Amino acid sequence: MNEPAIPPSTASASADPDCIFCKIARDEIPAKVAYADEHVFAFHDIHPQAPVHIVLIPRVHIRDVADARREHREELGRLLLAAAAVARDLGIEDSGYRLVINRGPNAGQSVDHLHVHILGGRGMGWPPWPE
Ligand code: 5GP
Ligand code: ZN
Repeated sequence: MNEPAIPPSTASASADPDCIFCKIARDEIPAKVAYADEHVFAFHDIHPQAPVHIVLIPRVHIRDVADARREHREELGRLLLAAAAVARDLGIEDSGYRLVINRGPNAGQSVDHLHVHILGGRGMGWPPWPE
């Protein structure tokens, strides 16, 4: 099977000096940190939607998942690996958790810096939308 067609690089993924998640990752806005390394940063959501609700971001500013490009493949992989590790560290692996990436305002994206929500610590019904 061929690789999916990914548009060529654009400038739209580059830094936004006013991005609140970049500021959190640079320690310019306080947050309760759950995990940090050279590539990813994870913090507790300010308005938790579950007993455990973590926001996990790449340190590099990518606007959203649709803006990710081939050169971000390693960062995207690191996000998933870190998500599983953070969930394990926070003790929600066995009870189950959900990873969510909202893309665009119609899907609930309110901060234009790609992020993964880690939601757990309670029953996570499926499907998550009303029948
Ligand atoms: P989105 O709605 O874009 O998918 O998710 C953004 C998330 O970031 C929301 O759940 C929101 O509560 C959280 N958030 C927004 N601003 C801040 C902040 O300044 N600090 C923390 N800890 N979380 C934030
Ligand atoms: Zn940013």
